[in-house]
Amino acid sequence: MFPAECCGLLIGRGSESLEVTDVITADNMSESSDRFLIDPQVQFDWMRKLRGTERRIVGHYHSHPNGLAKPSNYDEAVAVDRHQVWIIVPIKAGAAGDPKGFLCMGEGLGFIPFPFKIKT
Ligand SMILES: [Zn+2]
Repeated sequence: MFPAECCGLLIGRGSESLEVTDVITADNMSESSDRFLIDPQVQFDWMRKLRGTERRIVGHYHSHPNGLAKPSNYDEAVAVDRHQVWIIVPIKAGAAGDPKGFLCMGEGLGFIPFPFKIKT
């Protein structure tokens, strides 16, 4: 809960272009208020649920309370899953700013910007 980071999973399909079909809220299991750790049980449950379907976990989102919409040094250090999408939502004065997307390039390789559109 704010001011701790929030986080969750992005479920979707596609390869060249991704479509996120579900956004799954998860508990932040991190004991640090400026880090996030998606509840592993939620990840396992969804991996099991999606097995054999065209959908998969394509990435996740988390917030940066009073921070920027870009990966933190910590995010850079823990990002290992190549081609997972990271959506980062900046929170300023208690309100969500524009979320930004990033694509993890693999362990130690950082991120590239990953623009996305929210369908209404
Ligand atoms: Zn972060």
